[in-house]
Amino acid sequence: MFETLSDRLTSVFSSLRSKGRLSDADIDATCREIRIALLEADVSLAVVKDFVARIKERARGAEVSQALNPAQQVVKIVNDELIEILGGETRRLRYAKTPPTVIMLAGLQGSGKTTLAGKLAKWLRDQGHAPLLVACDLQRPNAVQQLSVVAERAEVAVYAPEPGNGVGDPVAVARQSIDHARRQQHDVVIVDTAGRLGIDQELMKQAADIRDAISPDEVLFVVDAMIGQDAVSTAQAFMDGVGFDGVVLTKLDGDARGGAALSVRHVTGRPIMFASTGEKLADFDAFHPDRMAGRILDMGDILTLIEQAQKTFDEEQAAKMAEKLVAGDGFTLDDFLEQMMMVRKMGPIKNLLGMMPGMGQMRDQLNQVDDRDLDRIAAIIRSMTPGERQEPKLINGSRRARIAKGSGVSVTEVSGLVVRFFEAQKMMKRMSQGMGIPGLPGGRN
Ligand code: GDP
Repeated sequence: MFETLSDRLTSVFSSLRSKGRLSDADIDATCREIRIALLEADVSLAVVKDFVARIKERARGAEVSQALNPAQQVVKIVNDELIEILGGETRRLRYAKTPPTVIMLAGLQGSGKTTLAGKLAKWLRDQGHAPLLVACDLQRPNAVQQLSVVAERAEVAVYAPEPGNGVGDPVAVARQSIDHARRQQHDVVIVDTAGRLGIDQELMKQAADIRDAISPDEVLFVVDAMIGQDAVSTAQAFMDGVGFDGVVLTKLDGDARGGAALSVRHVTGRPIMFASTGEKLADFDAFHPDRMAGRILDMGDILTLIEQAQKTFDEEQAAKMAEKLVAGDGFTLDDFLEQMMMVRKMGPIKNLLGMMPGMGQMRDQLNQVDDRDLDRIAAIIRSMTPGERQEPKLINGSRRARIAKGSGVSVTEVSGLVVRFFEAQKMMKRMSQGMGIPGLPGGRN
């Protein structure tokens, strides 16, 4: 997700790193590079222009010229502005004062709307809600059945006309579903509407009619992030035809260049509220602009990591992990090993590693990581003495040779692990010092 953009921006910043002062020419050159990186990522031109103008204005101001480390300050500015463009504060779902809360989904066919309905339902159920999924796509063959299957997988109730019952009236189904939800004490209703392959008036009218019939608390526009610039024009068309309160980006796991995410809020004025990152029900979460900016700038995503950990482990274990992450220098190879073993339970290792600060640059290696590599790392750490694990600085050349022999790997592998551990430790220490910005990606002051 956003890999190309992330790589480009990271390399722009690394060329600034060695500079003690930034001249106007340096700033102009950096802004030019940022502009190219954004355009290549399919961000719309209007957004790019605004964005770069703001960076330039701030970079030339006092906050940079007086900074001890001007290059870092530029990264901070870009981070701030990225958060801003992604929507600033996390926009949470608004629940109705009197249940049920009604959420209506709109979007093109193939955008991932039905899948998303299931993901959202499961997400709500996990938070203690009792959602009802409503099938109002009565045009596409199988749409009703597809939603029923999704509901079953998400273990939530579904409201749908009987299959084979003819075309039916989606507006009536939507209206009846709200009464049904009240009777059955569902506190959230998710209404899936029909999509077409392209925008058409009939589709818009039907969606608008459903909206008028059920007065949703939230209309969410679902859009496939992989369609690039088209996401913006589609969003605009739905904004004009139906109107919506928030955006859900789907297929962010694909080779998305990030353009849609960075443009849609600016162009429509509506925030991205959720992101979908795969075909499974669990590949879904609320969208946090600050965390996304951090990922784009390759500053890792410690918060998401911690949340994921909380889902997998009990509170106490997670709190311990969070504490260690934040404490930075209290973090030893023993912790590293312990975490790695816990992490094995959390899902594909490369996804998790991708969230760690500074790991973005190691993406090619990450793609080759398989869980057996963890066993090699574990073997290396286990061949160290307790003293070495607590104080990895002790691990000199002869100790490395001994450890390599003990764990059946090469000395280079042992050295690689030690170096990576120090980098991770340093990165965490920086984060814990409340800088928010853990230095330049992969860099040293
Ligand atoms: P709808 O026509 O808008 O209801 O779209 P569907 O929910 O049927 O999804 C269309 C296709 O996209 C299906 O094959 C889904 O499995 C797939 N899909 C949906 N969301 C995601 C996602 O976040 N990532 C990926 N890779 N595929 C997705």
